[in-house]
Amino acid sequence: MIHEILPVGMLQCNCSIFGDESTREGLVVDPGDEIESILEILRRHGLTVKAIVITHAHIDHIGGAAKLKQATGAPVYMNLNDEELKGMLDVQASWLGMEPVEAVAIDQPARDGEKLVVGATEFHVLHTPGHTQGSICLHLPSETKLIAGDTLFRDSIGRTDLAGGNSRQILRSIHEKLIPLPDETIVIPGHGGSTTIGREKEFNPFLEGMA
Ligand SMILES: [Zn+2]
Repeated sequence: MIHEILPVGMLQCNCSIFGDESTREGLVVDPGDEIESILEILRRHGLTVKAIVITHAHIDHIGGAAKLKQATGAPVYMNLNDEELKGMLDVQASWLGMEPVEAVAIDQPARDGEKLVVGATEFHVLHTPGHTQGSICLHLPSETKLIAGDTLFRDSIGRTDLAGGNSRQILRSIHEKLIPLPDETIVIPGHGGSTTIGREKEFNPFLEGMA
């Protein structure tokens, strides 16, 4: 499957662009900003976007979703526990000194256990609250990949000091939903470089004692 990772915006959120080589269906995760560049990648691969998925409603992940939805007509998936946070995009913009963005309407709730199918590939929704109440990860078993949003990073975990954050809850989410994945699973965090579940189990100081 086609997979391009494009860091977008001031906070360099990792936007993932997936595409099926035979059906040319696409899926975009976290179009935070730089929608023109995302559209350019979609055009280059001849992809039609079937779904836009938001891992959580922080502005650096959701900020460009309204524009991408307008340009593609694709439905937007987000866990509804982040609706309240999505209602605070103006506040988030002013915290960061950013221009206000248009809030996107959510078309489909991304509930735990749901599966999105793009061509031959399944994307499994894992609800992993803690960084925010509606944080999700996407697991692609056939690709041995995890899109981790801001839940798990290389050598770190998501911050829990912002609205809706809970430090015990994020550790529970990682323990229950992410640690059981195969060690060789490639983890693409919401920011920064990729890693694997096995590497984080061994070296991530926040996960010490989790087996
Ligand atoms: Zn975040």
